[in-house]
Amino acid sequence: MSQVTITLPDGSSRSVPAGTPVRDVATQISPGLARAALAGIVDGRMVDLSYALDRDADVRIVTDRSPEALALTRHSTAHLMAAAVTQLFPGTQCGIGPATEEGFFYDFVVERPFKPEDLDAIERKMKELASQDLIYERQMWPREEAKAFFAQRGEPLKVQLIDEKTEGQAEVSCYTIKDKDTFIDFCVGPHVPSTGKLKAFKLLSHSNAYWKGDARNQAMQRVYGTAFLSDRDLKAHLTQIEEAKKRDHRKLGRELGLFTFHPWAPGAAFWQDKGTTLYNTLANYMRDVLLPNGYVEVKTPIVFNKALWETSGHWSHYRENMFQVHGSEGEEMAMKAMNCPGHYLLYASDVHSYRELPIRFHEQTPLHRNELAGVLSGLTRVRQFSQDDGHCFVMPEQIGDEVERLLKLVRRVYDDLGMSFQPKLSTRPEEHLGDKATWDQAEAQLRGALEKAGERYVVDEGGGNFYGPKIDFDVTDAIGRKWQCATIQLDYQMPERFDLKYIGADNTEHRVVVIHRAILGSFERFIAILIEHYAGAFPLWLAPVQAVVLPISDRHLAYGASVRDRLQAAGLRATLDERQEKIGYKIREAQLQKVPYMLVVGDREAETGTVAVRERSGGDRGSSTIEAFIDAARDEVSHKGKPAAVSAQLSELTAES
Ligand SMILES: [Zn+2]
Ligand SMILES: [Zn+2]
Repeated sequence: MSQVTITLPDGSSRSVPAGTPVRDVATQISPGLARAALAGIVDGRMVDLSYALDRDADVRIVTDRSPEALALTRHSTAHLMAAAVTQLFPGTQCGIGPATEEGFFYDFVVERPFKPEDLDAIERKMKELASQDLIYERQMWPREEAKAFFAQRGEPLKVQLIDEKTEGQAEVSCYTIKDKDTFIDFCVGPHVPSTGKLKAFKLLSHSNAYWKGDARNQAMQRVYGTAFLSDRDLKAHLTQIEEAKKRDHRKLGRELGLFTFHPWAPGAAFWQDKGTTLYNTLANYMRDVLLPNGYVEVKTPIVFNKALWETSGHWSHYRENMFQVHGSEGEEMAMKAMNCPGHYLLYASDVHSYRELPIRFHEQTPLHRNELAGVLSGLTRVRQFSQDDGHCFVMPEQIGDEVERLLKLVRRVYDDLGMSFQPKLSTRPEEHLGDKATWDQAEAQLRGALEKAGERYVVDEGGGNFYGPKIDFDVTDAIGRKWQCATIQLDYQMPERFDLKYIGADNTEHRVVVIHRAILGSFERFIAILIEHYAGAFPLWLAPVQAVVLPISDRHLAYGASVRDRLQAAGLRATLDERQEKIGYKIREAQLQKVPYMLVVGDREAETGTVAVRERSGGDRGSSTIEAFIDAARDEVSHKGKPAAVSAQLSELTAES
């Protein structure tokens, strides 16, 4: 029998008979590995443990510690769910059932819509099938035979899938669980070896769906679930989902009176007064960060002639994502979806010497993207938004310093917000513009900047844009979710397209490099993240209302108003609750509105010129003079997200008096 050579991740290699299944390689390495094995990676492609090694190859065994294990497990759990559904509801037709970022789903054609108790029954059945440790088997079926089989079973959707996905193939792969009577699905796989490997899963919800997501097609029921490699991970995820529901920015945005939407302006928020205050606070904060750091703020047009978009390349690749409008002369125009091209025109409107560089533009004007109505969601996916956008025009040798400077700004902003982040450097992709030497130089400068700034980063080899390398930042929120927010992207293409140059020390023209950068990204999306990060209880510097004065009765109104006026004069955002309600009710309302400080005023306070300070968390901070409260509040505002706080200072003050 002929032999093949397999190379293991540690570089060692061994010779095995051709046709040896991957499983046997695991067994040869160690019995422990064989027990933990879920699949194999052969020459970079994930395969079943039963895969026969028929030629020399690099082989790695996938266990629950491998990065690939999660998606594999989730896809296999989707099959397990489909097996449970078809057993409990005979006659069910199966659609597709992929793994997702968060778990998995499967679409079914059923006689009647699912009810919540159906999900419980399906989950119980899944547990039963898992405990029986049934085998997932890959079977190769002649294509026509497979089509006839699924047609005869009353599964025309599977026949359609085979038709579309396997044109020209003689055979198609199907996976059974135990046998084809228990469950069979047309699927390319791979899968875990048996249902016993699936130990931590939970069904979450069901919804209406359509075949291929198109409302003109057959109506289906989608069941969502999630699966993990351990119970601990599953529990952590379920807690995160519960917590995320409580913090949902769409719910909190309504309850806190921050923003609203109207069907006549899909994907464009109406910012109420408190939301506008929050928005402007964040927008002005970014100005305070950027303007003393070499940026100038500019405003460029919102509607541009298509000539601009043809030059930038957006007209051919991105036209559908832009709102197109016509000028009074019938000119074809489009609303900008990004600021970059406007900044190029602005830069090119003047001759620049090397002495002026870097030139850094910052712009916050609104952008529009013609997103499909179906994908719009709260503030996270909108059609109108603004960014803390910026473009730096630099000489090639300035890239390192500029990026190091940017990294410091990113660090400062996320420290202020009390959020951690992880930079990711993405390098030259297969298809790229420009020569290798330029890329190597740019990447070396980015690495150097990350190291000088003391940032620990990960590398995504080949993940860069075709027009230049980039650094993205994953920000982690209070409940452990990751959001991609900040970005630093080098661009060698646009300076060519827009002929962007500077006059060098040698008195000749040179090409600039453009750095696209954002620290928060879209303000709309970032505010959604912040609302959920803080669960609506903003730190004092961001809180739309920082303090509310609560008179105990009408005769304290005048004193209450004078307190409010003094706070406002001191630059604090203070309001007065003038309603004729009981003080307990007013306090509860202010707590629900998550106002950081409640200043209760009654006879004693009016006589002594003080306020009784309560925190939104319910803490009673005792009595304070108005000046002491103002000083402590200003100090807390200046500390932003960092702890310090009025409360600590006030307790000192109370202790002293
Ligand atoms: Zn499948
Ligand atoms: Zn840009």
